[in-house]
Amino acid sequence: MTPLREELLDILVCPLPQCRQRLDQRDDQLVCTGCGRRYRIEENWPVLIPEEAQPPLDGKD
Ligand SMILES: [Zn+2]
Repeated sequence: MTPLREELLDILVCPLPQCRQRLDQRDDQLVCTGCGRRYRIEENWPVLIPEEAQPPLDGKD
């Protein structure tokens, strides 16, 4: 995987209006620190679309 630039990660937040928390990169996904949804990264660009996010992992990781 290619890490996203830190400046980019610094400004990214969860796209859910009721969440808006910071995102952590984990492998090729961004994991929301608030709701736990996972957003994929395509071509080094995060796909921050709630409808395409994967649900939280529920503790297993
Ligand atoms: Zn969230």
